Amino acid sequence: MFDIIIKGGTVIDGTGDIRRRADVGIQGDRIAAVDDLSHAQAGRVIDAGGMVVCPGFIDTHVHSDVALLHDRQHAAGLRQGITTEVLAQDGLSYAPLSRENLTMYAKYLGGLNGTPPIDWDWSSVAGYRAQFHNRVAVNTVYMVPHGTIRLEAVGFRDVPLIGEGLERARQLIRQGFAEGAAAFSTGLSYYPCSYADTDEMVALCETVAECGGFYVTHLRTVFREERFDAVREAIEVGERSGAPVHFSHFRPKPGSPGQTESLVLPLEQAIDRGLDVTAELYPYPVGSSYGCMFLPLWAHDGGPDAILQRLAHPATRRRIARNLDPSLGSWQSVRFSSLPSPANRYMIGRTVAEIAAEQGVAPEEFFCALMLEEQLQVGFVVQPPTDAAVWDGYNRDVLTLLTKPYYMVGSDSIPSGQQPHPRAYGCFPRILRLQREHLEIISLETLIQRMTANAAARFKLKDRGVLAAGKAADVVVFNPETVTDRATYDHPFLFPEGIEHVLVNGGVAVSSGVVTGLLKGAALPTLA
Ligand SMILES: [Zn+2]
Repeated sequence: MFDIIIKGGTVIDGTGDIRRRADVGIQGDRIAAVDDLSHAQAGRVIDAGGMVVCPGFIDTHVHSDVALLHDRQHAAGLRQGITTEVLAQDGLSYAPLSRENLTMYAKYLGGLNGTPPIDWDWSSVAGYRAQFHNRVAVNTVYMVPHGTIRLEAVGFRDVPLIGEGLERARQLIRQGFAEGAAAFSTGLSYYPCSYADTDEMVALCETVAECGGFYVTHLRTVFREERFDAVREAIEVGERSGAPVHFSHFRPKPGSPGQTESLVLPLEQAIDRGLDVTAELYPYPVGSSYGCMFLPLWAHDGGPDAILQRLAHPATRRRIARNLDPSLGSWQSVRFSSLPSPANRYMIGRTVAEIAAEQGVAPEEFFCALMLEEQLQVGFVVQPPTDAAVWDGYNRDVLTLLTKPYYMVGSDSIPSGQQPHPRAYGCFPRILRLQREHLEIISLETLIQRMTANAAARFKLKDRGVLAAGKAADVVVFNPETVTDRATYDHPFLFPEGIEHVLVNGGVAVSSGVVTGLLKGAALPTLA
């Protein structure tokens, strides 16, 4: 007698092995059998005829650190088949932080994560993780965020992390791992992370390696010297510190297809030298971020209140405007995704250049004035390419990279704002559709291994990522003929199609495409 039997489906078990016909029996929160169960009894039978049954997808990169505590059912993720999300990306999260630093950092990150009405009080990694355990729909994994511990160690200041500050940071890393963090993350485009030099990253990652963790890096885009090689820096940090390295959103360049081999060459050379390297990607040609990242390095010193004071001072604001760096594109390609003021909502989905022209001012000036008016809470998405050939080349490159055994999928979902990036609603089904359209590039079995077991192995989720007896019952049932994303840059809130049933820890969280409201997500790893 099982609690649930998923009957008559084609099992793709996450190991990369070839598909097979089998039923899946579930008891409590575990998979009890993957076999012919045609004579077995169950409390509930889910008909999976014509469907693929596979492990729940593990999203290795999300920014739902506060959105998930506000929208605990999290349909955006669940309906993609995502059952586990890795938080604390790019060195940007909220624990461990003193009350004062938390208030300050929440303000600074408002353009990225929003400021939902939730109980903001997390002085420890354990306390923060507890907010998610059995209280949200998906499993969560946490990392020690570099920016966060740097704030606690030396404040929001452009100073080297040495001496006592370094010791304090190291102690916070050790404590974070002891309280269940899986890795250490940084984003060397974001502050205060970007203040760090390579030696600081090596020193911190030595502690990470001692704790048995690994280094998750959003590569540096803020440089103090010319011709700096950010990929080489990440590898150097791994090789000098002994910490394995995971590259966040390591993606091809849209518009120059067919360059995947040269993209991954330095990673593969490092692997050949013995470094443990993995990488993730999302299947969209352009990204999304928040307005603060355009401000020059010196303008960040002191944190959000200091930035706002500088923006309010006419001469300093002019100096900031002259030194803005829309590093993700030009002002023509930066369009608003998130603005808190109702009066400015008409700007959503339009570009900085467009609105500035309407107002008859230079884009730089307009951007600075808006950052001040919106108290830095400005989110943006990059304008997507319009040429179908660019999309097609990019899609092929994404699938080609996913054939590499060290790749996995991280949506980089930012589930907040008025017009978010479509990856928040479409990432995983989109890749499944692309695979169906390009069977010659990658098999479904291999792709599912990247979305499940590969990520579970990297984040040490021992009983996840594989559909086998004894494993946690995180399961997706999808229609391989119809599965597709529907969210686009212009219509980002459209749910995908073809993801029929999603189970999290044995509970049916999506039933026939409908979110059931179950909150069975565990904070992983579960500590005794
Ligand atoms: Zn990110």
